[in-house]
Amino acid sequence: MTPPPAPARRIVFLGPPGAGKGTQAAELARELGFVHLSTGDLLRAAVAEGSDLGRAADGHIRAGRLVPDELVLAIVRERLGRPDARAGFILDGFPRNLAQARALEGFAPLELVVAFEIDPRQLVARLSGRRICPNCGTVYHLDARPPRVAGRCDRDGTELVQRPDDRPEAVEVRLRVYAEQTAPLLDYYRDLGLLRAVDVAGTPAEVASRLRRLIAAGPTAAGSPAERL
Ligand code: AMP
Repeated sequence: MTPPPAPARRIVFLGPPGAGKGTQAAELARELGFVHLSTGDLLRAAVAEGSDLGRAADGHIRAGRLVPDELVLAIVRERLGRPDARAGFILDGFPRNLAQARALEGFAPLELVVAFEIDPRQLVARLSGRRICPNCGTVYHLDARPPRVAGRCDRDGTELVQRPDDRPEAVEVRLRVYAEQTAPLLDYYRDLGLLRAVDVAGTPAEVASRLRRLIAAGPTAAGSPAERL
């Protein structure tokens, strides 16, 4: 009997803002013992700390534009270079353009890219109702995932906030940036044989079980380094 495939370990969740990548990546990475790397979370933490990186990134994030590649690549390279990332990682929000995708290939070749498929008309409602805990990063939604006590994080009681870039002016820019710069990665990863799609309709638990199946199926044959030459 052939043994079951080893699960994919170097994974990217790709999709527009508001598709639920962050919520799913946090949950599944915890379950699998993988590192969850959200460049958006790391950049927001840098802004909150007031570090040099945070000061350089702040204006771009508020406006909904991409932060310059070299800044983002430096944090991804550093985080994936740490020993715990060897067990596996799920990237969420990175790569966001072709230059980032090509750079990533150079230091952490992927095994699986999951495209989150969502009706674009749902995105604005998802983003405008989103609230986050500024302390632990847990994501809520006023209708779809309300906290137990209105306005407070279930985990630590901190007052929930709206991300500045979830306001309508920035949302419009983010969706345009996604269409122009990030969506072309779908073809890029399809050509490499790494792309699988997941339908994000349904409850978060239903989406999570679809994702578990994709990850358990392991890296695709066409994604092996030999076949990619
Ligand atoms: P996210 O939490 O992934 O929606 O990211 C929030 C914001 O952080 C984005 O709108 C960008 O301004 C910035 N950002 C996050 N990831 C990247 C990335 N890979 N490249 C450039 N900017 C990024």
